This record gives sequence, C-alpha cells and structure tokens, in this order.
Amino acid sequence: MNTLALRNIFLKQFDLVGIIRTEDYLMEAKKRRKDVFDHPYPTLVVLGLRYPKRFINSTETDFVSSFYTFGKDYHLVMQARIKDVMASLDVAYEANVDSHPYDERLAAVMTGLGFFAKNQLIINETFGSYLFLGMVFIDIELKEPYLLEVNDDCGTCTRCIEACPTGALFEGGYDKSKCISFYNQEKQPVTEEQMLKNYQLFGCDICQIVCPKNIKKGNFVHDEFQLSGKEMVSVVDLFTLTNKTFTNKYRDMAYLWKGKTLLMRNGLMLMYRQKNTRYLSLIEESLTSNKPEWYVHTAEKVLRYLKQFE
Ligand code: SF4
Ligand code: SF4
Repeated sequence: MNTLALRNIFLKQFDLVGIIRTEDYLMEAKKRRKDVFDHPYPTLVVLGLRYPKRFINSTETDFVSSFYTFGKDYHLVMQARIKDVMASLDVAYEANVDSHPYDERLAAVMTGLGFFAKNQLIINETFGSYLFLGMVFIDIELKEPYLLEVNDDCGTCTRCIEACPTGALFEGGYDKSKCISFYNQEKQPVTEEQMLKNYQLFGCDICQIVCPKNIKKGNFVHDEFQLSGKEMVSVVDLFTLTNKTFTNKYRDMAYLWKGKTLLMRNGLMLMYRQKNTRYLSLIEESLTSNKPEWYVHTAEKVLRYLKQFE
C-alpha cells in the first residue's frame, strides 16, 4: 500500500489525516521528554475530527460541561471510526485517543494538522481548534510520509492570554495548575478562588471561544456529535443516584470519564459560585457515604459557606 492510498482510506472517516514514520515522531518526542515509549509499528497516522461549537448555560438545577463533551463521547466515536477504517486493512495497529502516553499535539504539529497555539491547542487554518486528535500506529512500512502544510500562527495576538480568568496562559507558556480545565478534572481539594473561577461542570472553553482563528468555525456537526439530550446534568441525579444508575442514565457522555464523585465535587464548586442553597441537605447526605478526602474537604467548605445564605 502507498501513503496516498492509506490516507484516502482514513479520509473517509476523518477530517484531517497526516502520516509520518513512527521513528521520526519518537526521535522528536525524545528530545522533549525522557520517558517516551518506543513503538514497534513503523507508521504513525495522526487524525483530526471536527466537533461543533455550541452553548448551553448551567442553571441552578442542571449543570453543563465544556461543549466538546456534547453528543457521544469522542473517545468512543474516534475509536469506532478508527476500527471501521482498520477493518478494511488486514494489518496490526494500535489506536490512541486522548489518554495515552504519546504526545498527540507534537504528532499533530509534525504532520501539519495545525500549529501549536498560545492557548496550548492545535489550530488548523480551516477548522480552527475545534478538533479531536488521535494517533494510530500501524504495522505497515511506507516509502514516504504525508505532511500537510501549515501557513499560520498566533502572530502578535494575545486574546486568549487576556481572557483566561486564572492567568494560566502567558506569552511563551502555560501554568497547568492554574487552568480550570486541569483542576476541575483533578481529584484533589479545591480552594475558594478555584471554586469562584470554575463555571462549568467539567472543562473550560474560554480560550477557544475568544480565539479569532475560531471565528466562523465549529459549525459542522458529525452525526455522533448531535446533541444527545444528556448535556445538562441534573443536580438531583448527581447527588441521589447510585454510581451505576447515574452512569447508565448519562451513558456515553465524555464528562463521565473521571467518575461521578468528581462531577459531584465540581457541582459543589458551581453551587459555591452560584450561592445556590437548594441542595444543602443533599450535600450533607453525601458526607454520610464513603467519599474520598478531596471530596469531603470541598463539601465541608461549601456547606459552611452556603449556610450563611440560608
Ligand atoms: S482552559 Fe480556561 S483556564 Fe485553562 S487556559 Fe484556557 S481559558 Fe485559561
Ligand atoms: S487567541 Fe490569539 S494568541 Fe490565543 S490561540 Fe488564538 S490566535 Fe493564538
């Protein structure tokens, strides 16, 4: 098989496809980090799939996550699309989507899917930053890579840096610990300041929304990313359903991947920000079940704070 034929097969399922030798990717990755895993398959296909920009606001009774979680969980969508492509090729492969030890942003830059922007995301000239990325190692030797061309960068723009509510972004860098999208996905206690800045059940979209490269982007909707009706999470469900029942009801949503207790902790942050006293008894009740220290710490703090507004 030649490179173009392989690329064309992937293009039936993905919006962006770049191909490099695994060896070239690993060499570059090792320059940046010491703990890079080798891979036996010689070809690396790097994939981009568009997702749409849509807005739903949280209310006092239902909380909403970043819009990249809307529709079916992108991990499942990407994996299914990769499986579909690979079913037509009789070769060994390994698909990696999101949580894996490889640097997909580096791979995306190396294959020309986009440039690495000041908001730490990959921006493609045609699709903006609303892209899910994936990496597939394939046991095929190819004569040449297929690299897309990138003719764009952030230039002198600093809009995301100015808009970031926590100061996580700065010229030439990023402080992950300050990023809302990082700390609302970490199983750890949160500070008052973090609670006040957090505005979603999961993730943060601000540095994408303000980006001028995203103007008029994010309009196309792949079928799987049509709204599922499970974008708004009921606070009552979150605090009263068992893990199993909750996971069943909100099945296939990307915000589930760190578990219900993390969403409950984030729900507490939103209640703190909203001064929302509707659910004090549910918070108290949640403390009677066996919860991790990072949850208990946040719940006690939120209860103390909200009780003054009762
Ligand atoms: S995701 Fe939010 S908190 Fe994180 S860098 Fe972007 S704007 Fe700042
Ligand atoms: S807002 Fe400006 S600086 Fe930030 S990622 Fe977009 S183009 Fe780059």
